[in-house]
Amino acid sequence: MARDQSSRNGKASSKAPRQNPRTLKRKRNEDDIATLKQRVADLDPKAPIESFTELPLSEATRLGLSASHFKTLTDIQSRAISHALRGRDILGAAKTGSGKTLAFLVPILENLYRKQWTEYDGLGALILSPTRELAIQIFEVLRKIGRHHTFSAGLVIGGKSLQEERERLGRMNILVCTPGRMLQHMDQTAAFETDNIQMLVLDEADRIMDMGFQSTVDAIVEHLPKERQTMLFSATQTKKVSDLARLSLQDPEYISVHEAATSATPSTLQQHYVVTPLPDKLDTLWSFLRSSLKSKIIVFFSSSKEVRFVYEAFRHMQPGIPLLHLHGRQKQGARVDITHKFSTSKNSCLFATDVVARGLDFPAVDWVIQLDCPEDSDTYIHRVGRTARYERDGRAVLFLEPSEEIGMLSRLEQKKIPIERINIRANKQQSIKHQLQNMCFKDPQLKYLGQKAFTSYVKSIHIQKDKEVFDVKALPLEEFAASLGLPGAPRIKFIKGEDTKSRKNAPRHLQLVSSDDEDEDEDGEGEDGNTESKKKKSKEPEVRTKYDRMFERRNQDVFTEHYTKLIYEDTEAGNSSKTGNATADADEDFLAVKRRYDVEEEVDDPTTKDSDTGMQVKKVAGGVLAVQIAGKDPLLIDSNRREKLLQSRKKLLKYKSPGKKLVYDDDGNAHEIYELEDEDDFKKRGDAEAQRAKFLELETERARLADVRDKEIAKQKKREKKEQRRERARAEREAAAEEEGAGPVAVLAPFEGEEGGEDDIPDGEMEDVKIQPPSKKQKKFRRDDEEEASNGPRKNTKITFNEPAEVQTLEDLEAFASGLLG
Ligand code: ADP
Ligand code: MG
Repeated sequence: MARDQSSRNGKASSKAPRQNPRTLKRKRNEDDIATLKQRVADLDPKAPIESFTELPLSEATRLGLSASHFKTLTDIQSRAISHALRGRDILGAAKTGSGKTLAFLVPILENLYRKQWTEYDGLGALILSPTRELAIQIFEVLRKIGRHHTFSAGLVIGGKSLQEERERLGRMNILVCTPGRMLQHMDQTAAFETDNIQMLVLDEADRIMDMGFQSTVDAIVEHLPKERQTMLFSATQTKKVSDLARLSLQDPEYISVHEAATSATPSTLQQHYVVTPLPDKLDTLWSFLRSSLKSKIIVFFSSSKEVRFVYEAFRHMQPGIPLLHLHGRQKQGARVDITHKFSTSKNSCLFATDVVARGLDFPAVDWVIQLDCPEDSDTYIHRVGRTARYERDGRAVLFLEPSEEIGMLSRLEQKKIPIERINIRANKQQSIKHQLQNMCFKDPQLKYLGQKAFTSYVKSIHIQKDKEVFDVKALPLEEFAASLGLPGAPRIKFIKGEDTKSRKNAPRHLQLVSSDDEDEDEDGEGEDGNTESKKKKSKEPEVRTKYDRMFERRNQDVFTEHYTKLIYEDTEAGNSSKTGNATADADEDFLAVKRRYDVEEEVDDPTTKDSDTGMQVKKVAGGVLAVQIAGKDPLLIDSNRREKLLQSRKKLLKYKSPGKKLVYDDDGNAHEIYELEDEDDFKKRGDAEAQRAKFLELETERARLADVRDKEIAKQKKREKKEQRRERARAEREAAAEEEGAGPVAVLAPFEGEEGGEDDIPDGEMEDVKIQPPSKKQKKFRRDDEEEASNGPRKNTKITFNEPAEVQTLEDLEAFASGLLG
């Protein structure tokens, strides 16, 4: 409306001395913003709002929303957006799939727009997500609805080099990120200024506020200005006063749209449970999959090892439905691929950990199966929330071990979750135990995965906090092991010691638990940027059972009776010929002590000099060579690997002790940097402990000051640069404005022929969204949905959203930009 007015004014004044179109446009924008501000101020936050057009939104947001086919508001949107537009802090709670994402993205765009936020104002809004996948998804929605804005937005989720991200961070207006990575940048990237942030959003807030992210989030908040708008969203909202205090929320508006609802889950969701003894779980899952080949299914497990094992095992047995698996231990690229594949697939089954439990909006999921009982009812709500999203229906089945039934059902009841028991049809149940045993026997890799899966499952039960639901002693472990195809239950050493209690209190962070696994954490969830817990990953020695040892031998000539029965083919022939090797291998496994030679013992060939390396080489007992390296024990060349060392001086240097750094005094005498002073002198100065403390204190202070100084200098430089850039831009703008009938609007980067960037899921890197005014030429490259938007009323001032296709690096972009602007 306001715009129409101003354009009419523009026409009316066309007789007056000719005005520069740019000046006019700027004026129009200012009018626009002033009216918007007024409308927001007049907004009655209590009035129910049905359609986005009723809200005081900028043209750009309105176009973005309608191009993405968002017309009417959901309940949470209708109640939260008005408050958020007015700058209020918000605690938003609404069921899964009810549209919380837009409830914070729209206000972010709008509030920054009304503040006329530009590149030079730096970071204006920060959105935290507990997982990378969710961050990517939020970012995608932001790109869609923000395509007509001129903000730059970035995704900071790790998985790419810090340096690359660093370079672009400084110019971002809106960032979507995982807490760990964000903190890393805040601590380490000097050019990254966070003191101007206007809005902080925590999606899945209760998860971000819980123990796993606690210290990270606290540290992030320390970097942010106190005066800001903070918004928290989740289906299971935190109301803890302590949490709110940590974020210094100011008089937050608590918006809970489904508080009075009869159930905590979407009404379109059918929820069931089956009681299955642990050893039958996989049979039941298999039978279920075989009978649901035309469905889209997510199956939740409690640890990434189980996911891997079941995925590998089922894959080999070819159930007839495409299988996918996703957990936090996968590489970032794979995670993105799999998320994308599952999103776009019509029927497939995704085995996953709780890394996908929260927030992810996979389209049209039919079934959510929880093979392992969730740790609490909130996790249950989020897991089942992957189906029945936004007015669609869906079904969920929870598998309960008989020992878990009573406890878990009462937990669900407390949370108003309607769930009904169903039974499995016995005639449809197939057993795959035999097959699994056979496969595990033939494939030691699979058996190894099975053992890992077993251990991590049992551990996950052991460390659960809710002992009324989870009782490890009630589990039939031997049968469970057999059902995974293992010859017996691997022995598990449970964690003892004084810190057991605190560990139990952190059930989501199974990775903190001392593990008998060398490389992986247990849980798929906390990995995102939770650097701290990673560091703590304990390195206790691996617990190995006799089974482990037995099956680590490559050629097994001693079988348990149980196993001998399982072998149907190629046993006799295979065994007899392999026996010889087997003993040799076994020897190697069991004899841990390496061959040892006494260097002094017998030197028949006095020292020679190795021609290649210049090192002194001796021959010692057993014909073994020993290389004499300065200041060290001789290095024995007793293996092929070490023999290779002899060929390279560089490699040998590794074994040398590091050199000493010397300083020279005025007389030219060399001294070590830290020379020991005379003991008496030292004692004269007081107690050693006191001196040590004082020294430490001084040094710490010195380092701190140096750090502060460095950061200040870096920031100052950055500011100066920015100021210069701003000056330049201003000068250029004015110069352009003076030019008569200024030609087409400058385009920062012409991405002709660019296509489909929109749907590309970024490869875990920080992505830029540059949003800029188009030239006329660009029109023909507009995508379909943009086409639609262009039917809107504001054709000639339309702003197109673009993304670099040809232009790949920042340098390219800058070159382009300066070329065009210059
Ligand atoms: P939540 O965060 O509450 O779980 P999302 O924000 O992920 O929910 O939205 C769930 C689904 O609903 C998404 O697919 C989204 O596109 C759709 N959606 C959200 N708001 C609207 C709306 N106003 N109109 C139509 N669809 C919507
Ligand atoms: Mg969400």
